[in-house]
Amino acid sequence: MPPPSDLRVLIVGAGLAGLIMGIMLGKAGIDYHILEQASRLRPLGTSITLHPVVIDLVDQLGLLEEMFALSRPLRGITVLTSKGRRMGRIDTRSSKQKLGRQALVMSRPDLHELLLSKIPAHRLTTGMRVIGMAETQSGVMVTCADESTFFGSVVVGADGAYSATRHIMYSSLKKQGRLPESDLNPLFADKQCVVGMTCPLDPQKYPVLLNNSCEVKVLLGKDQHTSMWILPLRGNRIAWCVGGPDPRLQLNYSPSSPVSSGRSSPASSGRPSISSSGSSGSHGGRHSTSDWYPETAIEICEDVRNFKCPYGGSVMDIIEATPKGLVSKVLLEEKMYHTWHHGRVVLVGDACHKIVPFFGQGASQAILDAACLVNMLHGLPSISAEDITAIFEKYFAQRSGPAKVASDSSREFADLIYDQGFKADMARSIVLRFTPTWLLRMIIGTSTGSRPVLDFLPRPSSSLKSWQ
Ligand SMILES: Cc1cc2nc3c(=O)[nH]c(=O)nc-3n(C[C@H](O)[C@H](O)[C@H](O)COP(=O)(O)OP(=O)(O)OC[C@H]3O[C@@H](n4cnc5c(N)ncnc54)[C@H](O)[C@@H]3O)c2cc1C
Repeated sequence: MPPPSDLRVLIVGAGLAGLIMGIMLGKAGIDYHILEQASRLRPLGTSITLHPVVIDLVDQLGLLEEMFALSRPLRGITVLTSKGRRMGRIDTRSSKQKLGRQALVMSRPDLHELLLSKIPAHRLTTGMRVIGMAETQSGVMVTCADESTFFGSVVVGADGAYSATRHIMYSSLKKQGRLPESDLNPLFADKQCVVGMTCPLDPQKYPVLLNNSCEVKVLLGKDQHTSMWILPLRGNRIAWCVGGPDPRLQLNYSPSSPVSSGRSSPASSGRPSISSSGSSGSHGGRHSTSDWYPETAIEICEDVRNFKCPYGGSVMDIIEATPKGLVSKVLLEEKMYHTWHHGRVVLVGDACHKIVPFFGQGASQAILDAACLVNMLHGLPSISAEDITAIFEKYFAQRSGPAKVASDSSREFADLIYDQGFKADMARSIVLRFTPTWLLRMIIGTSTGSRPVLDFLPRPSSSLKSWQ
Protein backbone atom coordinates (compact mmCIF):
# COMPACT_ATOMS: atom_id res chain seq x y z
CA MET A 1 0.00 0.00 0.00
CA PRO A 2 1.51 3.41 -0.90
CA PRO A 3 1.81 6.05 1.86
CA PRO A 4 -1.09 8.57 2.14
CA SER A 5 -0.80 11.06 -0.73
CA ASP A 6 -1.50 14.01 1.61
CA LEU A 7 1.37 13.09 3.97
CA ARG A 8 3.95 15.92 4.18
CA VAL A 9 6.88 15.67 6.55
CA LEU A 10 8.64 18.78 7.84
CA ILE A 11 12.15 18.06 9.11
CA VAL A 12 13.81 20.55 11.47
CA GLY A 13 17.61 20.43 11.05
CA ALA A 14 19.94 19.48 8.21
CA GLY A 15 22.49 17.57 10.30
CA LEU A 16 23.22 13.93 9.50
CA ALA A 17 19.88 12.78 11.00
CA GLY A 18 17.77 15.30 9.04
CA LEU A 19 19.57 14.70 5.75
CA ILE A 20 19.42 10.89 5.90
CA MET A 21 15.76 11.12 6.91
CA GLY A 22 15.14 13.29 3.82
CA ILE A 23 16.94 10.85 1.52
CA MET A 24 14.93 7.92 2.91
CA LEU A 25 11.62 9.79 2.60
CA GLY A 26 12.49 10.64 -1.00
CA LYS A 27 13.04 6.92 -1.74
CA ALA A 28 9.71 6.13 -0.03
CA GLY A 29 7.91 8.61 -2.29
CA ILE A 30 6.89 10.78 0.68
CA ASP A 31 6.73 14.55 0.34
CA TYR A 32 9.18 16.29 2.72
CA HIS A 33 10.88 19.58 3.38
CA ILE A 34 13.92 20.39 5.56
CA LEU A 35 14.33 23.64 7.52
CA GLU A 36 17.87 24.50 8.65
CA GLN A 37 18.83 27.43 10.87
CA ALA A 38 22.31 27.96 9.38
CA SER A 39 22.26 30.14 6.28
CA ARG A 40 25.35 28.40 4.93
CA LEU A 41 26.01 24.76 5.72
CA ARG A 42 29.64 24.44 6.71
CA PRO A 43 29.90 21.14 8.53
CA LEU A 44 32.46 20.81 11.29
CA GLY A 45 33.93 17.81 13.03
CA THR A 46 36.60 15.24 12.52
CA SER A 47 36.29 11.52 11.87
CA ILE A 48 32.99 9.68 12.13
CA THR A 49 32.38 5.95 12.14
CA LEU A 50 29.43 4.20 10.58
CA HIS A 51 28.51 0.95 12.29
CA PRO A 52 28.36 -2.28 10.29
CA VAL A 53 24.62 -2.51 10.98
CA VAL A 54 23.83 0.68 9.07
CA ILE A 55 25.81 -0.26 5.97
CA ASP A 56 22.87 -2.25 4.52
CA LEU A 57 20.76 0.91 4.71
CA VAL A 58 23.47 2.89 2.97
CA ASP A 59 23.55 0.16 0.31
CA GLN A 60 19.75 0.25 -0.15
CA LEU A 61 19.91 4.01 -0.64
CA GLY A 62 22.44 3.53 -3.46
CA LEU A 63 25.19 5.39 -1.58
CA LEU A 64 27.59 2.54 -0.92
CA GLU A 65 30.09 3.16 -3.71
CA GLU A 66 30.38 6.85 -2.93
CA MET A 67 30.68 6.03 0.77
CA PHE A 68 33.49 3.53 0.08
CA ALA A 69 35.31 6.19 -1.92
CA LEU A 70 35.24 8.51 1.11
CA SER A 71 36.05 6.00 3.82
CA ARG A 72 38.27 3.23 5.08
CA PRO A 73 37.16 0.05 6.85
CA LEU A 74 37.98 0.06 10.56
CA ARG A 75 40.49 -2.69 11.32
CA GLY A 76 41.12 -2.25 15.02
CA ILE A 77 41.98 -0.05 17.94
CA THR A 78 45.47 -0.19 19.44
CA VAL A 79 45.99 1.28 22.88
CA LEU A 80 49.45 2.65 23.71
CA THR A 81 50.97 4.52 26.59
CA SER A 82 52.02 8.08 25.91
CA LYS A 83 55.57 6.75 25.57
CA GLY A 84 54.48 4.34 22.82
CA ARG A 85 54.35 1.06 24.80
CA ARG A 86 51.59 -1.16 23.45
CA MET A 87 48.97 -1.99 26.11
CA GLY A 88 46.61 -4.00 23.96
CA ARG A 89 44.45 -4.12 20.87
CA ILE A 90 40.79 -4.59 20.07
CA ASP A 91 40.20 -6.26 16.71
CA THR A 92 37.07 -4.88 15.06
CA ARG A 93 37.11 -7.19 12.05
CA SER A 94 34.84 -9.83 13.62
CA SER A 95 31.90 -7.87 12.21
CA LYS A 96 33.09 -8.84 8.73
CA GLN A 97 32.58 -12.55 9.47
CA LYS A 98 29.34 -12.00 11.37
CA LEU A 99 27.69 -9.34 9.23
CA GLY A 100 29.54 -9.38 5.95
CA ARG A 101 30.02 -5.66 6.66
CA GLN A 102 32.71 -3.64 8.40
CA ALA A 103 32.52 -0.32 10.19
CA LEU A 104 33.56 2.56 7.92
CA VAL A 105 35.59 5.54 9.09
CA MET A 106 35.40 8.85 7.24
CA SER A 107 35.53 12.58 7.74
CA ARG A 108 32.27 14.02 9.10
CA PRO A 109 32.35 17.00 6.72
CA ASP A 110 32.75 14.56 3.75
CA LEU A 111 29.79 12.47 4.93
CA HIS A 112 27.65 15.56 5.47
CA GLU A 113 28.49 16.85 2.00
CA LEU A 114 27.66 13.50 0.39
CA LEU A 115 24.24 13.38 2.06
CA LEU A 116 23.55 17.03 1.29
CA SER A 117 24.31 16.43 -2.41
CA LYS A 118 21.40 13.93 -2.50
CA ILE A 119 18.81 16.45 -1.31
CA PRO A 120 17.14 18.33 -4.19
CA ALA A 121 17.56 22.10 -3.70
CA HIS A 122 13.78 22.73 -3.53
CA ARG A 123 13.48 20.40 -0.53
CA LEU A 124 15.80 22.38 1.78
CA THR A 125 15.45 25.94 3.06
CA THR A 126 18.44 27.33 4.94
CA GLY A 127 18.48 30.35 7.26
CA MET A 128 15.24 29.10 8.87
CA ARG A 129 15.49 28.91 12.65
CA VAL A 130 12.39 27.20 13.97
CA ILE A 131 11.03 28.99 17.05
CA GLY A 132 7.41 27.91 17.30
CA MET A 133 4.91 25.16 16.47
CA ALA A 134 1.12 25.07 16.61
CA GLU A 135 -0.91 21.95 16.00
CA THR A 136 -4.05 22.15 13.85
CA GLN A 137 -6.59 19.41 13.01
CA SER A 138 -4.67 18.21 9.95
CA GLY A 139 -1.08 19.07 10.81
CA VAL A 140 1.43 21.41 12.41
CA MET A 141 2.22 25.03 11.55
CA VAL A 142 5.89 25.76 12.15
CA THR A 143 7.11 29.34 12.65
CA CYS A 144 10.68 30.50 12.01
CA ALA A 145 12.61 33.42 13.50
CA ASP A 146 12.00 35.55 10.37
CA GLU A 147 8.22 34.95 10.82
CA SER A 148 7.90 32.67 7.79
CA THR A 149 5.65 29.65 8.31
CA PHE A 150 5.65 26.09 6.97
CA PHE A 151 3.02 23.37 7.22
CA GLY A 152 3.45 19.62 7.63
CA SER A 153 1.22 16.71 8.58
CA VAL A 154 4.05 15.68 10.90
CA VAL A 155 7.17 17.44 12.19
CA VAL A 156 10.44 15.55 12.76
CA GLY A 157 12.83 17.29 15.16
CA ALA A 158 16.31 16.42 13.86
CA ASP A 159 17.77 19.55 15.39
CA GLY A 160 20.45 18.10 17.64
CA ALA A 161 21.31 18.05 21.32
CA TYR A 162 19.80 21.48 22.03
CA SER A 163 16.70 20.77 19.94
CA ALA A 164 14.22 23.63 19.63
CA THR A 165 11.57 21.12 18.57
CA ARG A 166 12.08 19.22 21.82
CA HIS A 167 12.07 22.41 23.84
CA ILE A 168 8.76 23.55 22.32
CA MET A 169 7.19 20.10 22.71
CA TYR A 170 8.37 19.81 26.31
CA SER A 171 7.13 23.30 27.25
CA SER A 172 3.64 22.29 26.25
CA LEU A 173 3.83 18.91 28.01
CA LYS A 174 5.26 20.55 31.13
CA LYS A 175 2.32 22.97 31.31
CA GLN A 176 -0.01 19.97 31.17
CA GLY A 177 1.99 18.22 33.92
CA ARG A 178 2.77 15.37 31.52
CA LEU A 179 6.56 15.55 31.31
CA PRO A 180 8.71 13.21 33.41
CA GLU A 181 10.98 15.18 35.75
CA SER A 182 14.07 13.47 34.30
CA ASP A 183 13.39 14.98 30.87
CA LEU A 184 13.92 18.42 32.37
CA ASN A 185 17.40 17.56 33.69
CA PRO A 186 20.23 19.22 31.81
CA LEU A 187 22.60 17.25 29.62
CA PHE A 188 25.43 15.67 31.58
CA ALA A 189 29.06 16.40 30.67
CA ASP A 190 32.26 15.75 32.62
CA LYS A 191 34.64 15.29 29.72
CA GLN A 192 35.65 17.54 26.92
CA CYS A 193 38.05 17.41 24.06
CA VAL A 194 39.54 19.23 21.14
CA VAL A 195 39.12 17.51 17.78
CA GLY A 196 40.72 18.25 14.45
CA MET A 197 41.53 17.04 10.97
CA THR A 198 44.79 17.95 9.24
CA CYS A 199 45.15 19.29 5.74
CA PRO A 200 46.41 16.65 3.23
CA LEU A 201 49.85 15.45 4.36
CA ASP A 202 52.75 13.88 2.51
CA PRO A 203 52.40 10.04 2.49
CA GLN A 204 56.21 9.81 2.18
CA LYS A 205 56.43 11.43 5.61
CA TYR A 206 53.42 9.49 6.98
CA PRO A 207 53.35 6.05 5.26
CA VAL A 208 50.28 5.12 7.39
CA LEU A 209 48.30 7.22 4.90
CA LEU A 210 48.97 4.61 2.20
CA ASN A 211 47.06 1.86 4.09
CA ASN A 212 43.69 0.77 2.74
CA SER A 213 42.17 0.24 6.18
CA CYS A 214 42.09 2.32 9.33
CA GLU A 215 43.67 1.50 12.68
CA VAL A 216 42.80 3.87 15.52
CA LYS A 217 45.65 4.53 17.94
CA VAL A 218 44.74 5.61 21.46
CA LEU A 219 47.56 7.19 23.46
CA LEU A 220 46.90 7.14 27.19
CA GLY A 221 48.48 9.83 29.32
CA LYS A 222 49.85 8.77 32.67
CA ASP A 223 49.05 10.87 35.78
CA GLN A 224 47.11 13.41 33.78
CA HIS A 225 43.58 13.48 32.52
CA THR A 226 44.42 13.70 28.87
CA SER A 227 44.46 11.04 26.18
CA MET A 228 44.81 11.27 22.44
CA TRP A 229 43.14 9.41 19.58
CA ILE A 230 44.75 9.50 16.19
CA LEU A 231 43.73 7.88 12.89
CA PRO A 232 44.35 8.18 9.17
CA LEU A 233 41.55 9.25 6.83
CA ARG A 234 41.08 9.23 3.06
CA GLY A 235 42.56 12.20 1.25
CA ASN A 236 45.90 11.88 3.11
CA ARG A 237 44.45 13.51 6.20
CA ILE A 238 44.88 12.55 9.85
CA ALA A 239 42.07 12.95 12.39
CA TRP A 240 42.85 13.50 16.04
CA CYS A 241 41.14 14.07 19.34
CA VAL A 242 42.79 15.28 22.55
CA GLY A 243 40.88 15.33 25.83
CA GLY A 244 39.45 13.65 28.85
CA PRO A 245 37.72 14.39 32.15
CA ASP A 246 37.96 18.07 33.06
CA PRO A 247 37.31 19.37 36.59
CA ARG A 248 37.27 22.88 35.11
CA LEU A 249 33.85 22.13 33.63
CA GLN A 250 32.42 22.54 37.10
CA LEU A 251 33.80 26.05 37.29
CA ASN A 252 32.75 27.17 33.87
CA TYR A 253 29.13 26.15 33.60
CA SER A 254 26.62 27.87 35.81
CA PRO A 255 23.54 26.00 37.04
CA SER A 256 21.45 27.88 34.51
CA SER A 257 23.60 26.71 31.63
CA PRO A 258 22.12 24.07 29.31
CA VAL A 259 24.86 21.63 30.30
CA SER A 260 25.32 20.14 33.74
CA SER A 261 28.79 19.24 34.89
CA GLY A 262 27.69 16.74 37.53
CA ARG A 263 25.45 13.69 37.39
CA SER A 264 23.58 14.74 40.53
CA SER A 265 22.57 18.18 39.36
CA PRO A 266 19.17 19.40 40.47
CA ALA A 267 16.29 18.32 38.26
CA SER A 268 15.00 21.77 37.55
CA SER A 269 18.25 23.55 36.75
CA GLY A 270 19.66 24.22 33.33
CA ARG A 271 16.62 23.59 31.14
CA PRO A 272 17.82 23.36 27.54
CA SER A 273 18.35 26.91 26.45
CA ILE A 274 17.95 26.85 22.71
CA SER A 275 18.46 30.52 22.25
CA SER A 276 21.97 30.48 23.66
CA SER A 277 23.26 27.15 22.39
CA GLY A 278 21.11 26.30 19.43
CA SER A 279 21.89 29.32 17.39
CA SER A 280 25.56 29.96 17.94
CA GLY A 281 28.30 28.88 15.60
CA SER A 282 28.25 28.17 11.91
CA HIS A 283 26.48 24.85 12.05
CA GLY A 284 24.95 23.17 15.07
CA GLY A 285 26.44 25.67 17.49
CA ARG A 286 27.42 23.18 20.14
CA HIS A 287 30.75 22.40 18.57
CA SER A 288 31.47 25.99 17.77
CA THR A 289 34.56 27.45 19.33
CA SER A 290 32.48 30.42 20.44
CA ASP A 291 30.84 28.60 23.31
CA TRP A 292 34.08 27.61 25.02
CA TYR A 293 36.80 29.53 26.77
CA PRO A 294 39.54 30.02 24.16
CA GLU A 295 42.64 29.18 26.17
CA THR A 296 41.41 25.64 26.80
CA ALA A 297 42.19 24.29 23.32
CA ILE A 298 45.78 25.37 23.63
CA GLU A 299 46.05 24.10 27.19
CA ILE A 300 44.65 20.69 26.30
CA CYS A 301 46.93 20.24 23.31
CA GLU A 302 49.91 21.30 25.42
CA ASP A 303 49.14 18.30 27.67
CA VAL A 304 50.10 15.90 24.87
CA ARG A 305 53.18 17.76 23.67
CA ASN A 306 55.52 15.00 24.91
CA PHE A 307 53.40 12.08 23.71
CA LYS A 308 55.19 9.78 21.30
CA CYS A 309 53.54 9.95 17.88
CA PRO A 310 52.85 6.44 16.51
CA TYR A 311 53.47 7.73 12.95
CA GLY A 312 56.89 9.23 13.73
CA GLY A 313 57.75 12.84 14.48
CA SER A 314 55.81 14.70 17.13
CA VAL A 315 52.06 14.72 17.78
CA MET A 316 52.35 18.51 17.75
CA ASP A 317 53.36 18.33 14.04
CA ILE A 318 49.95 16.78 13.37
CA ILE A 319 48.05 19.23 15.56
CA GLU A 320 49.87 22.13 13.92
CA ALA A 321 49.07 20.78 10.42
CA THR A 322 45.38 21.31 11.17
CA PRO A 323 43.71 24.39 9.71
CA LYS A 324 42.05 26.50 12.44
CA GLY A 325 38.61 26.04 10.85
CA LEU A 326 38.92 22.29 11.28
CA VAL A 327 39.53 22.40 15.03
CA SER A 328 36.51 22.18 17.33
CA LYS A 329 36.16 22.13 21.08
CA VAL A 330 33.56 19.61 22.10
CA LEU A 331 31.80 18.78 25.33
CA LEU A 332 31.15 15.05 25.53
CA GLU A 333 27.53 15.43 26.60
CA GLU A 334 25.08 12.62 27.13
CA LYS A 335 21.44 12.17 27.93
CA MET A 336 18.64 9.76 27.06
CA TYR A 337 15.23 11.43 26.93
CA HIS A 338 12.08 9.50 27.82
CA THR A 339 9.65 11.55 25.75
CA TRP A 340 10.30 11.22 22.01
CA HIS A 341 6.94 12.29 20.59
CA HIS A 342 3.75 14.16 21.29
CA GLY A 343 0.82 14.75 18.94
CA ARG A 344 2.21 15.12 15.43
CA VAL A 345 5.78 15.92 16.52
CA VAL A 346 8.54 13.34 16.87
CA LEU A 347 12.30 13.46 17.59
CA VAL A 348 15.24 11.63 15.97
CA GLY A 349 19.01 11.56 16.51
CA ASP A 350 20.77 13.72 19.10
CA ALA A 351 17.47 15.50 19.83
CA CYS A 352 16.24 12.42 21.74
CA HIS A 353 19.48 10.64 22.68
CA LYS A 354 22.79 12.42 23.03
CA ILE A 355 25.49 9.78 23.13
CA VAL A 356 29.20 10.26 23.81
CA PRO A 357 30.87 9.96 20.40
CA PHE A 358 32.69 6.63 20.45
CA PHE A 359 32.40 4.20 17.53
CA GLY A 360 30.10 6.65 15.77
CA GLN A 361 27.12 5.66 17.90
CA GLY A 362 25.66 9.17 17.47
CA ALA A 363 25.50 9.04 13.69
CA SER A 364 24.62 5.35 13.45
CA GLN A 365 21.81 5.60 15.99
CA ALA A 366 20.43 8.62 14.12
CA ILE A 367 20.40 6.59 10.88
CA LEU A 368 18.64 3.71 12.64
CA ASP A 369 16.01 6.12 14.04
CA ALA A 370 15.39 7.54 10.58
CA ALA A 371 15.04 4.09 8.97
CA CYS A 372 12.58 2.90 11.62
CA LEU A 373 10.47 6.06 11.37
CA VAL A 374 10.41 6.13 7.56
CA ASN A 375 9.35 2.45 7.45
CA MET A 376 6.45 3.36 9.71
CA LEU A 377 5.50 6.51 7.81
CA HIS A 378 5.52 4.45 4.61
CA GLY A 379 2.97 2.05 6.15
CA LEU A 380 0.82 4.84 7.66
CA PRO A 381 -2.87 4.18 6.86
CA SER A 382 -3.95 7.85 7.04
CA ILE A 383 -2.74 11.20 8.38
CA SER A 384 -5.28 11.16 11.21
CA ALA A 385 -3.93 12.10 14.65
CA GLU A 386 -4.74 8.58 15.94
CA ASP A 387 -2.79 6.80 13.17
CA ILE A 388 0.18 9.14 13.60
CA THR A 389 0.27 8.65 17.38
CA ALA A 390 0.06 4.87 16.88
CA ILE A 391 3.16 4.77 14.62
CA PHE A 392 5.10 7.17 16.89
CA GLU A 393 4.41 4.87 19.84
CA LYS A 394 5.68 1.91 17.84
CA TYR A 395 8.75 3.89 16.78
CA PHE A 396 9.58 4.72 20.40
CA ALA A 397 9.01 1.10 21.48
CA GLN A 398 11.39 -0.18 18.81
CA ARG A 399 14.15 2.39 19.05
CA SER A 400 14.44 3.53 22.67
CA GLY A 401 15.85 0.24 24.03
CA PRO A 402 18.62 -0.21 21.44
CA ALA A 403 19.51 3.51 21.66
CA LYS A 404 19.87 3.17 25.45
CA VAL A 405 22.14 0.12 25.07
CA ALA A 406 24.27 2.05 22.56
CA SER A 407 24.45 5.02 24.92
CA ASP A 408 25.44 2.88 27.91
CA SER A 409 28.10 1.00 25.91
CA SER A 410 29.62 4.26 24.67
CA ARG A 411 29.74 5.65 28.21
CA GLU A 412 31.37 2.43 29.51
CA PHE A 413 33.95 2.62 26.75
CA ALA A 414 34.67 6.29 27.49
CA ASP A 415 35.14 5.46 31.18
CA LEU A 416 37.38 2.54 30.31
CA ILE A 417 39.65 4.77 28.25
CA TYR A 418 39.61 7.93 30.33
CA ASP A 419 39.38 6.77 33.96
CA GLN A 420 42.58 7.28 35.92
CA GLY A 421 44.16 5.47 38.86
CA PHE A 422 45.32 2.00 39.79
CA LYS A 423 41.90 0.33 39.48
CA ALA A 424 41.28 1.90 36.08
CA ASP A 425 44.73 0.76 34.88
CA MET A 426 43.96 -2.81 35.99
CA ALA A 427 40.55 -2.77 34.32
CA ARG A 428 42.08 -1.50 31.09
CA SER A 429 44.78 -4.13 30.95
CA ILE A 430 42.23 -6.92 31.59
CA VAL A 431 39.76 -5.59 29.04
CA LEU A 432 42.40 -5.13 26.41
CA ARG A 433 43.49 -8.74 26.86
CA PHE A 434 40.02 -10.30 27.07
CA THR A 435 37.62 -8.03 25.21
CA PRO A 436 34.29 -8.23 27.11
CA THR A 437 30.97 -9.03 25.47
CA TRP A 438 29.54 -5.52 25.88
CA LEU A 439 32.46 -4.04 24.00
CA LEU A 440 32.31 -6.60 21.20
CA ARG A 441 28.54 -6.07 21.00
CA MET A 442 29.08 -2.38 20.59
CA ILE A 443 31.83 -2.79 18.04
CA ILE A 444 30.10 -5.34 15.85
CA GLY A 445 26.74 -3.71 16.23
CA THR A 446 24.55 -6.17 18.08
CA SER A 447 23.77 -3.41 20.58
CA THR A 448 21.34 -2.12 18.00
CA GLY A 449 19.15 -5.17 18.57
CA SER A 450 18.55 -5.98 14.93
CA ARG A 451 19.88 -5.40 11.48
CA PRO A 452 17.23 -3.18 9.97
CA VAL A 453 16.44 -2.55 6.33
CA LEU A 454 14.06 -0.20 4.57
CA ASP A 455 11.00 -2.42 4.02
CA PHE A 456 9.90 -0.66 0.84
CA LEU A 457 13.23 -1.04 -1.04
CA PRO A 458 14.85 -4.20 -2.45
CA ARG A 459 17.00 -5.92 0.18
CA PRO A 460 20.77 -5.89 -0.22
CA SER A 461 21.74 -9.52 -0.91
CA SER A 462 24.19 -9.85 2.00
CA SER A 463 21.53 -8.74 4.51
CA LEU A 464 19.84 -12.12 4.10
CA LYS A 465 22.74 -13.74 5.94
CA SER A 466 22.04 -14.49 9.60
CA TRP A 467 24.44 -12.82 11.99
CA GLN A 468 23.07 -13.28 15.47
C1 LIG B 1 29.36 20.50 14.54
C2 LIG B 1 29.31 19.04 14.93
C3 LIG B 1 30.45 18.25 14.81
C4 LIG B 1 30.41 16.90 15.15
N1 LIG B 1 31.53 16.16 15.00
C5 LIG B 1 31.49 14.85 15.26
C6 LIG B 1 32.64 14.05 15.06
O1 LIG B 1 33.68 14.54 14.65
N2 LIG B 1 32.58 12.71 15.33
C7 LIG B 1 31.41 12.14 15.79
O2 LIG B 1 31.38 10.91 15.99
N3 LIG B 1 30.29 12.88 16.00
C8 LIG B 1 30.31 14.21 15.74
N4 LIG B 1 29.19 14.96 15.94
C9 LIG B 1 27.99 14.30 16.44
C10 LIG B 1 27.25 13.56 15.33
O3 LIG B 1 27.31 14.27 14.12
C11 LIG B 1 25.81 13.40 15.76
O4 LIG B 1 25.78 12.63 16.96
C12 LIG B 1 24.95 12.66 14.74
O5 LIG B 1 25.29 13.01 13.44
C13 LIG B 1 23.48 12.96 14.91
O6 LIG B 1 23.31 14.34 14.81
P1 LIG B 1 21.94 15.06 14.50
O7 LIG B 1 21.73 15.20 13.03
O8 LIG B 1 20.86 14.42 15.30
O9 LIG B 1 22.20 16.49 15.14
P2 LIG B 1 23.23 17.62 14.68
O10 LIG B 1 24.37 17.05 13.94
O11 LIG B 1 23.49 18.43 15.87
O12 LIG B 1 22.38 18.46 13.62
C14 LIG B 1 21.31 19.29 14.03
C15 LIG B 1 21.00 20.29 12.93
O13 LIG B 1 19.84 21.02 13.31
C16 LIG B 1 20.06 22.40 13.09
N5 LIG B 1 19.19 23.16 14.02
C17 LIG B 1 19.33 23.26 15.36
N6 LIG B 1 18.34 24.02 15.86
C18 LIG B 1 17.57 24.40 14.82
C19 LIG B 1 16.39 25.20 14.71
N7 LIG B 1 15.84 25.79 15.78
N8 LIG B 1 15.84 25.39 13.49
C20 LIG B 1 16.39 24.81 12.38
N9 LIG B 1 17.52 24.06 12.43
C21 LIG B 1 18.08 23.85 13.64
C22 LIG B 1 21.54 22.57 13.36
O14 LIG B 1 22.04 23.74 12.78
C23 LIG B 1 22.10 21.31 12.72
O15 LIG B 1 22.34 21.46 11.36
C24 LIG B 1 29.20 16.31 15.63
C25 LIG B 1 28.05 17.12 15.75
C26 LIG B 1 28.09 18.46 15.40
C27 LIG B 1 26.84 19.33 15.53
